[in-house]
Amino acid sequence: MKYCPNCGAQLPDNANFCGSCGARIGATPQPQPQPAEQPKQKMFSMDNYRANREAQKQRMKKMKWWHWAIIAIGVTMLTMMKLGA
Ligand SMILES: [Zn+2]
Repeated sequence: MKYCPNCGAQLPDNANFCGSCGARIGATPQPQPQPAEQPKQKMFSMDNYRANREAQKQRMKKMKWWHWAIIAIGVTMLTMMKLGA
């Protein structure tokens, strides 16, 4: 007795295809997990992309805050330099 590597259905030993899901049986079962991993990686990268975008947004907000702080410091220094000169 064999079992379908895709859906786990019981199959006769001479079965080449799963009668339940149509998966190919008997050939190398190794190629099966590889295509299954690819969409997972894609989804993971999508999550990463979203997380990166969120982090970038947060960084942008922080950058803006720092931008204004740097400008304020620069203006203050310029004013002090002008006053000193
Ligand atoms: Zn199956």
